[in-house]
Parts: sequence; structure tokens; C-alpha cells
Amino acid sequence: MRAAGARLSVVGARLCVVGGGVLGLAVAADAVKAGWRVTLLEREPALCRVASGASFAWANAHAKRPASYAALSRAGLRRHAEASATGSEPWFTAMAADAWGTRVVEGGAVDVAAFARAHARAIRDHGGVVRTGASVVRVDTDADGARVVLDSGEPVVADTVVLAAGVATPALLDGLGTAQRLAVLGPIGALARVRWPSGWAGGLVLGDELSVRPDGDDRLLLQSLSLERALVDEALPLDERAAWRRLRELAQRHGLPLGDDDLLELRFAHRPLPPDGLPIAGWAAERVYAVVAHSGVTLAPALGRLVVAELGGEPQPELQRCRPPGSVPNHSQKEHTHGKEHTHGH
Ligand SMILES: Cc1cc2nc3c(=O)[nH]c(=O)nc-3n(C[C@H](O)[C@H](O)[C@H](O)COP(=O)(O)OP(=O)(O)OC[C@H]3O[C@@H](n4cnc5c(N)ncnc54)[C@H](O)[C@@H]3O)c2cc1C
Repeated sequence: MRAAGARLSVVGARLCVVGGGVLGLAVAADAVKAGWRVTLLEREPALCRVASGASFAWANAHAKRPASYAALSRAGLRRHAEASATGSEPWFTAMAADAWGTRVVEGGAVDVAAFARAHARAIRDHGGVVRTGASVVRVDTDADGARVVLDSGEPVVADTVVLAAGVATPALLDGLGTAQRLAVLGPIGALARVRWPSGWAGGLVLGDELSVRPDGDDRLLLQSLSLERALVDEALPLDERAAWRRLRELAQRHGLPLGDDDLLELRFAHRPLPPDGLPIAGWAAERVYAVVAHSGVTLAPALGRLVVAELGGEPQPELQRCRPPGSVPNHSQKEHTHGKEHTHGH
């Protein structure tokens, strides 16, 4: 199916997106609307279960440096607000925050599960495929195309591949024999979803010991940077009960009265974190584009749009500082930019 306004150069070309976190979903949803035939492959049994599912998901441009990164974050915020408002299930709630004692009015909370549902629906509605429980072990490329190989041995054939596998992206690139290793394994994070205790007024508060925000009408999300540091410094096992005990103590110190059985869910995940803190977005090998970002929840809608423009052969100045190490020119785009329709089978 061809979306109105889709550029002819990519219509019908096959795009395989590896990773069903916020970044993979954002790229896949924009790509399918631009005319790509998209298959998204996610290893977990459900979408957004890794970093995206453990995210505090405060979309913001607060204290972001350099200016280009702040601008990208603002573009993400704008697009969250616009796109969320037009769908049947909004995922973004604009919300002022008290962040480290500073009032931040520009920003909001992203409901990651709703974001995932909306994007998966958009991909499928435009004829794309979303597969969970599909673990990619290898990507092979040659002059004719790419084969994304699943652990079952099944190949998914594509013209172009986007690796949006978060902290697992470097391992997939290694298999391609890329010249320089990507390092994106950031610190461990922990996120708790708890019952909203009576007496808690609400609002979005961020601090070193405790960050709190509403998650719907009857739950809160809690995160503690000091607890996360302790997990690393004291080499604590990633044990849900032990982390919850500490988090509960911190919460009580901050006037949040939580009972032992108020914990609904606790998730651990490493943050994808490129060494300079800026996103990585670019051609990492022939036919293979990589996208990894810290603050990926904030950036996903902006990166989705920019990455899809680059997949279509239009380099985006906003991403000029984001190239992966050993970035390659994109030979695979030559065939997409001659204005021909692809005739390959799916
Ligand atoms: C505790 C915490 C708090 C955070 N707070 C914020 C915040 O407030 N604001 C903000 O903007 N950002 C925040 N972040 C960062 C943000 O969550 C991440 O930058 C973002 O989720 C990254 O999205 P992603 O899609 O790249 O990665 P992921 O969500 O990790 O998605 C990658 C996906 O790829 C899949 N995958 C990996 N390997 C394979 C394979 N071989 N085959 C198939 N699939 C594969 C994984 O299963 C995973 O689902 C936070 C992160 C954490 C951990």
C-alpha cells in the first residue's frame, strides 16, 4: 500500500527493522508510511520489554547539550504531542516537572505501552509485519540484498536493514565485520511501578534519590539514581525484593508511604548509551543502518522521521554528528534514488 505523499524511490523496497523498542517502532511506523514494505523483528515475546519498558519515560529537553541535541529533543517532544493527539489511544501527557529543584514546563510523560500499541497498529494498518519472539542471530549482506537470519535458521530477506536493538546492536554489527566496535552499554537502571498511595498529591518530581510520576490514575513510577549507583558500586545482585526494600525506604524518606505489597512490577535494564551521549544514527555497513540513543523515549519520534529520510537517500544535517564509528557511504540507496519502483517479492 502506498501512503499519500510517499516518495517513489523507496516504494515497495523491503526494510527489516531489528528491535521492537521505541526506536525500532518509530522507524518502522514512519518507514511503512513512506512506502517501504516493513518487517519488524523483536526477540522478546512482547514489544518494549527491555530499555523502553524500564524507562521512566520523561520526554524532555532539560539541560541537554549541545544545542543540536536540545533541538532534536524538542523535535521529539513536539512530535510526541502532535502524533499522540491524532491517534485513537494517546500516549503522551504534557506535564511540568520539578527536576532537581528547577521547574521545567516543557516536557511530559510517555506511556510506553500505549506508544508500542499505537505504533504496532500503524505498522500493521499500512501492510507491515510486526513479529515478536523473533530473535535475530545474524545479518548477511551482499550486492543483491540482505538476509536477516533468525535463531530458527529462517531468513528474512530485505533490501535494507535497520538495527535498533538497543544495547544488543554492537553484537549484531560485529557479525557484519564492521571496522570499529560500537560501545553502547550504559549503566543499569531500575524502574518500579507501584500503587498510588493515598495522600500523594501527584505531579512529576525528579531528584537524585527519588523520581516519581503518575502512571495512569492509580499507579506511580519510581526511579532512584542513587539506588542504581548502589547496584553498581556495591555489586548488588539484580534482585527485585532487595531493590524494592531500598527503594521503599527512599520513598518513605520523601514522604511517599508505600506498603510492602504496593509494588506491582520492578524492571532492570541497561541504558543504551553511546560514549559521547549523543544518538548514533547512520549507515554502519552496506545496506545496514544503525540507530541507538540515550533518552530514546524523548527522541524516538524525531529520530524515526530523520532516519526514514536518510533511508530514502536524503542525508539529514541534524544527524551529521551522530554517525557510527567507521560509518560507510550508503551504496544500497543508489537503486532507490533513481525513481524506480522495486519489484522484489516479500
Ligand atoms: C531506568 C531508565 C530510565 C530512563 N528514563 C528515561 C527518560 O526519562 N526519558 C528518556 O527519554 N529516556 C529514558 N531512558 C532511556 C530510554 O528508555 C532508552 O534510550 C530507550 O528506551 C531506548 O530504546 P531502544 O528502542 O533503542 O532500546 P530497547 O527498548 O532496548 O529496544 C531494543 C529492542 O531490541 C530487541 N533486540 C535486541 N537484540 C535483538 C535480536 N538479536 N533480535 C531481535 N530483537 C532484538 C530487544 O529485545 C529490545 O526490545 C531510561 C532508561 C532506563 C533504563
